Amino acid sequence: MSPDLRIDLHAHSRMSDGTQSPTELVHAAKAAGLDVLAITDHDTSAGWDEAATAAAEVGLDLVRGMEISTRHRGRDVHLLAFLPDPTYGPLVDALQKVLDGRNSRVPAILGKLHDLGIDITLDDVRRVSGDAAAVGRPHLADALVAAGVVRDREQAFNEFLRPGRPAYVDRYAAPLEPMIRTVTEAGGVSVVAHAWGRSNDPGPLDEAGFADLAAVGLAGIEVDHEDHGPDTRRQLRAIASDLDLVVTGSSDHHGAGKVGHDLGCNTTAPREYERLLARAAAAAAASGRTTPEVVTA
Ligand code: AMP
Ligand code: ZN
Ligand code: FE
Ligand code: FE
Repeated sequence: MSPDLRIDLHAHSRMSDGTQSPTELVHAAKAAGLDVLAITDHDTSAGWDEAATAAAEVGLDLVRGMEISTRHRGRDVHLLAFLPDPTYGPLVDALQKVLDGRNSRVPAILGKLHDLGIDITLDDVRRVSGDAAAVGRPHLADALVAAGVVRDREQAFNEFLRPGRPAYVDRYAAPLEPMIRTVTEAGGVSVVAHAWGRSNDPGPLDEAGFADLAAVGLAGIEVDHEDHGPDTRRQLRAIASDLDLVVTGSSDHHGAGKVGHDLGCNTTAPREYERLLARAAAAAAASGRTTPEVVTA
């Protein structure tokens, strides 16, 4: 594998809370000079087929993945799952529970907004979420923008939607360790996304915590992410090295929905990508399941 490949392993389309269709996302990745892109919508594989078709057309390698909403020792953890069999029953069931939690949260948030004197309907949310399989707070933010209540998603989160703000509502997330096992059983590999977030707070994900996750099959840590400063990246890289975990880097692109996350703003080293693919191949072989191939240009 050429050491010059540009590899971005975390990006969202309109199937969750990105603002581009899977086709537009793939075209944008090609235009940004990427060689490899992973589509990783929240809790769904709904964008995979369209993205794979577009990738084959434009000549881009595509990794089919998703970003699963999990909880671990009281904290939300986003788990990137690459190349699992999307028809594996336990995975389908676990994702459906998360999607149900997402759907039932929407009316609860609308109720809180109503109490604040802001009337937005389910139809208003549907209008902005379109055919998204995973509806999230960014769609409520978009509905607030469309109604002229706020100027952008950022303001919507800061005034209403984030924890501690008056329209925040929690939702179900899948227990992390069983989910790591489920992804492996589905023939895929998992990587903890933006592990320490913006607060540089390891929480349960210190070195000992990661060792526990590695023991149940975690393959890697997303180290190079906009939410991580230089110090965080250095510390996470050291943990990954100690535990023999793969280091990934990515944009977490959301189209126009999140500023400062342009495609390719962080990338994964080809050597690390190769290790990840080897882990995926081993999981696929052990599972005996039919898993998606990387679309190759
Ligand atoms: P949810 O999945 O519904 O809990 O919403 C979380 C999503 O909202 C994450 O994917 C974030 O990318 C996005 N998000 C969180 N904070 C902001 C923000 N300030 N502006 C735009 N998007 C955000
Ligand atoms: Zn998102
Ligand atoms: Fe995330
Ligand atoms: Fe993400």
